[in-house]
Amino acid sequence: MARPWPRQPRLIAGNWKMNKTAQEGSALAGQLKGLLGTTRRCEIALCPPYPALESVAAAVRGSGIHLGAQDLHPEPKGAFTGAVSGPMLSAVGCRFVIVGHSERRHGMGEDDALVARKARAALRDGLTPIVCVGETLSEREAGGTADVLVRQVRAVYEGLGEAEARATVVAYEPVWAIGTGKVASLEQAREAHQLVRATLDRVVAPGLGQSLAVLYGGSVNAENAAALFGEAELDGALVGGASLEAAGFWRICAAATPR
Ligand code: PEP
Repeated sequence: MARPWPRQPRLIAGNWKMNKTAQEGSALAGQLKGLLGTTRRCEIALCPPYPALESVAAAVRGSGIHLGAQDLHPEPKGAFTGAVSGPMLSAVGCRFVIVGHSERRHGMGEDDALVARKARAALRDGLTPIVCVGETLSEREAGGTADVLVRQVRAVYEGLGEAEARATVVAYEPVWAIGTGKVASLEQAREAHQLVRATLDRVVAPGLGQSLAVLYGGSVNAENAAALFGEAELDGALVGGASLEAAGFWRICAAATPR
């Protein structure tokens, strides 16, 4: 089973989505490793596309930078053309795997039940799932944000033991903020993170919410990171577009100062 992931130091995870070949990924990871120096103040994970996992793993070896994948199939092996399993990701050196990203929920039809199966598969295979939850713009405008977040958290965590739940990370990613340049206000993010924690307390065990890392994702960049990390509720960030360039991503990491 995956090991527990603490709230501190903050975790900055770069979700490269469908960008970077194996060679390009290796170059970017190498640049980042060079920028790290000895002043790292946060944990860093890079989540390249599958074909770049191996070259990125080689590029970051010995740096303390973690490797993550963007998705996994719930089954460990079998006749699932095009899919990649947890044991394969562990074998290439992944510590993390993103599950339930909105681009998969809303763009590729993944429902809550499938996201829950993927999170359990990650835990079974020794990976730390980064469980993405978040409302669409129409859900927010209709006053449904809390219902969506509670439903998505319940779907994954109901039935999980406390030790399993402690080996996960949650990412609150309002869908309307992903790749749009719109960032949730500190108040919106704080409210959502607190609701996630309270739901974890209710669904799994009292006190769990306070011990789990809850990241924020949605248009985080080098310019807005410092202001976002002024909010103590943010235990890190899941960064998409701004993780594709070393200097900018490094500035985000540098802004995630210890609390
Ligand atoms: C993401 O893909 O999880 C994300 C937050 O993307 P961006 O930072 O580009 O909004």
